[in-house]
Amino acid sequence: VIDARQGFVMPGLVNAHVHAAMTLFRGMADDLPLKEWLFDRIFPAEAEHLCPETVYWGALLGFLEMLMSGTTCFAEGYFFQDETFRAARLVGLRGLIAQGVIDLPAPDLADPRDNLKHAKRFLEKWKGASDRLEPGIFCHSLSTCSRQTIESAWEISQEFQLPMQIHLSETAGEVREVLKDTGMRPVMYLDALGLMKPDLIAAHAVHLDGKEIACMGERGAGAVHVPESNMKLASGVAQVAHMRQKGIPVGLGTDGCSSNNNLDLFGEMDTAAKLGKVMSRDPVEMDAKTVLRMATVEGAAVLGLEKEIGTLEAGKKADIVVVDLDKPHLCPVFDPYSLLVYSASGADVKDVVVNGEILLRDGKPTTVDPGEVMEKVREVAKNISR
Ligand SMILES: [Zn+2]
Repeated sequence: VIDARQGFVMPGLVNAHVHAAMTLFRGMADDLPLKEWLFDRIFPAEAEHLCPETVYWGALLGFLEMLMSGTTCFAEGYFFQDETFRAARLVGLRGLIAQGVIDLPAPDLADPRDNLKHAKRFLEKWKGASDRLEPGIFCHSLSTCSRQTIESAWEISQEFQLPMQIHLSETAGEVREVLKDTGMRPVMYLDALGLMKPDLIAAHAVHLDGKEIACMGERGAGAVHVPESNMKLASGVAQVAHMRQKGIPVGLGTDGCSSNNNLDLFGEMDTAAKLGKVMSRDPVEMDAKTVLRMATVEGAAVLGLEKEIGTLEAGKKADIVVVDLDKPHLCPVFDPYSLLVYSASGADVKDVVVNGEILLRDGKPTTVDPGEVMEKVREVAKNISR
């Protein structure tokens, strides 16, 4: 029995784009251009510091942060994903854990020629291993994966009947590169390869033209809006309202902690709503109810899970969050959607149930001790230079 008096009971939030173990690099490299941030700071730090043990503790910290701020389901991609899978299973969350694939030496794979073999092994190992977690493949981007890599990754994902994730059109530079190499804009290129399908999860989707948006909408491929990361790296702003109008399901994601720098989806909802209004110069656009929908059932649809989660309905899985309203900044209540999007934060989450199991009770995780995890991550961080 959970005492939810003075509380809102709501569906668990869905973080549709995240890299859990990147909590290790929270605040390590801020305020830099994306290319410099990624190639000069993040990739070298990952090469030097990622190993099964550090990914395990970083992922545990990420999943604890998600749990304690009301996220019950996620889609994520990274390296050493056996460890991420173990960490998520221990915390008890629901989600899609994808092996990162890139045509460069990766922290968990020196020879990129083996990247798909490596990813396939991961799928074989974990498919069907959990009632809440699915494995998957995450192609890093069109700038870092060849046509052959993308096509093979898609083929393997389809063979296992799993969605595939990719970073798509995050920056204008990436679009220019793809246009130069293929003669097509990224969405049209992926469509030509046969990937524009509901099983595709395209994170960012910032720089799409009208034709691309129409194509994605017709094909039913899902997008993930990642506003805070796009703002912090000055990548641009996705045309979310237009995309949704054209039928693209759009989820909400935080991205990894090195470009955000937290995993609080309540904060992300607030930002998504306000940024949408600023960009369209229209305060009516991206209203609170729409944004909450993106962070719940629409995100679930992007992951292919809308029949199981995303709303509180008989017959769906019990993924439930209780928000404590007994706080000055949450009083009084006129409209629950407004309160959750514009006033609440992840710190207001009191209880979390996933798959019928209580994982957070009165603000305390029931499966993992946060003190131990933070101690381990602080130790790892001592060796990481700024
Ligand atoms: Zn990302």
